[in-house]
Amino acid sequence: AARTGPVHPRWIRINTLKTTATDQLETTFKAFEPVPSVQDVVKSTGKALCFDPHVPNLLAVSPGTDFTKTEAYKSGAIILQDKASCFPAYLLNPGPEDGDVIDTCAAPGNKTTHLAAIIQSRSASPRTVYAFEKDKLRAKTLERMVKVAGSDSFTKIRQGQDFLKVNPAAEEYRHVGALLLDPSCSGSGIVGRDEMPELHLPEIPGSKPAKSQTPKEKKRKRKDDEAQLKTLMVDDDGETTVVSSAKELEARIEALSSFQLTLLLHAFKFPAAKKITYSTCSLYAGENENIVQKALESEIAKERGWRILKRENQVRGMRDWPVRGSLEACDGNQEVADACIRAYKDDEHCVMGFFVAAFVREPTTQVDGD
Ligand code: SAM
Repeated sequence: AARTGPVHPRWIRINTLKTTATDQLETTFKAFEPVPSVQDVVKSTGKALCFDPHVPNLLAVSPGTDFTKTEAYKSGAIILQDKASCFPAYLLNPGPEDGDVIDTCAAPGNKTTHLAAIIQSRSASPRTVYAFEKDKLRAKTLERMVKVAGSDSFTKIRQGQDFLKVNPAAEEYRHVGALLLDPSCSGSGIVGRDEMPELHLPEIPGSKPAKSQTPKEKKRKRKDDEAQLKTLMVDDDGETTVVSSAKELEARIEALSSFQLTLLLHAFKFPAAKKITYSTCSLYAGENENIVQKALESEIAKERGWRILKRENQVRGMRDWPVRGSLEACDGNQEVADACIRAYKDDEHCVMGFFVAAFVREPTTQVDGD
């Protein structure tokens, strides 16, 4: 079906492992005119660009140019990555005090390479990024991306390794202070997935129907939702699941959320870990706020002192980002809802649908970095 939402710009991350923003403005983007905002970029009839006000080294560029043909893309100087997909590494913001870092579910490697760029910009001493990827074929893509992006010298790829099978107490991981967890999800936030029913499905576990709905309204809405539902659901790993009713979708989300929570609780076990980000490109509360809530209530979180990273302590761009978690899905807990970061694919921000939250173990106010 034709998209009816706003036009999206091309989001481009300048890979500081290979180049600088100044160099790119003078070369790859020489013909582009700087404009004040992303709305100006999408309105422009010519070639326009603007620096993103939230994520450092990120550009919004007029759609229509095929950057995959440019030298900058081929050499890894620029990476085509949606703004919202840049949130997790930026929010994790691993500094020198965080030691080594794990990307638990890494392929194709957008966030692994972003993490690597941040680490390099914030630390002179050698540190390692461990990148786990269960799927061997996808791990090959990850390997290529890490090499092209120029982070292969300090990234150890764990090809075909299931993060759940990793022993958190292993000697090798004793200096791991930060983990990025971006597991497989329904992919309902991906732009172009208009066949997916969005947030309004009343059947998603934990996402409560709006209070104002009468039983009759609820029934009618559910019928509408089911009518919208197409038979194929392709998640963000490209895995295809046949879903032909709201009930089947609910079961699929339930299975995904159980796997997502298990991964997050496993990440909580790393002895030196002080920071974790949890993210999905899903719009469903069942994969997002509900996972955060369950994780915070878990035994392991209480035992190890894991808490949510409050908005006021987040790195500047994430603190300033206005779209926050659903209060309803956080059972009215304003502090948790505010700590959660969301993005919707059809609003004025022109990004994909996304969710991210960070957990910390010690009182920490993040230092602004690149
Ligand atoms: N973070 C990636 C990026 O930004 O390029 C996208 C990750 S994708 C959402 C999830 C990835 O996790 C898939 O490649 C999937 O094969 C992998 N995965 C799923 N379960 C895993 C597990 N238990 N251990 C390691 N990798 C896993």
